[in-house]
Amino acid sequence: MTLQIVFNDFIDLIFPRCCEGCEKPLIGNEETICTVCRISLPRLNSEGMNKDTLQYKFVNVPEIISTHSFLLFTKKSKVQKLLHVLKYRGNKEVGILMGFMFGQEMLAAGELPNAELIISVPLHRKKKKNRGYNQSDLLAEGFSSATGIPWSGTALERVKYTETQTGKSKTERRENVRGVFEVREKSLPESVIIMDDVLTTGATLEECVETLKTAGCTQFYILTIALAQH
Ligand SMILES: [Zn+2]
Repeated sequence: MTLQIVFNDFIDLIFPRCCEGCEKPLIGNEETICTVCRISLPRLNSEGMNKDTLQYKFVNVPEIISTHSFLLFTKKSKVQKLLHVLKYRGNKEVGILMGFMFGQEMLAAGELPNAELIISVPLHRKKKKNRGYNQSDLLAEGFSSATGIPWSGTALERVKYTETQTGKSKTERRENVRGVFEVREKSLPESVIIMDDVLTTGATLEECVETLKTAGCTQFYILTIALAQH
């Protein structure tokens, strides 16, 4: 055992670092999320949720080749807690780690999209300034470092501020987000991944696709960290 490890164990005793999912103290080399949580977070398939049902989300958008969500979002779950920590408690590591785990698992399953660039769904600059970062950028960064697919947080800009989508129907949400994005990069590849945190109705993601189509993108893969049933 090196002196550094002894020292780290000593620090952990005095200031225990806790798992962001279950709040138990982290042990050994564990970082941010403990091993038990990492293994037991509800993957879509293991919860009896057929991944194919996701494809029906975007049945009217033929340019979307496939849709994948990493985890199932339910109220009062660890997934909700982790996303809360990421969005409202300033913990950027949680985002990078969840994106990394998602990338690792898609790679291991041989399901990695054949895309040249990951584009994160942008926040309006006011919201980004308040939060200090865009959580989808962190997810894209983590996914990118696991898979080697480059990412961009500046390909799209959210030019209109929209109020919360909660409580609105898909048609209302679709209207609410019309024209909120603009393309900010001159040349984009044909095949891209769009990365977001939670998939609900998919209205925002559809608007991203519509906007990116005007910049020459033709094939889209939708990836989100969590799927909310609604
Ligand atoms: Zn835990």
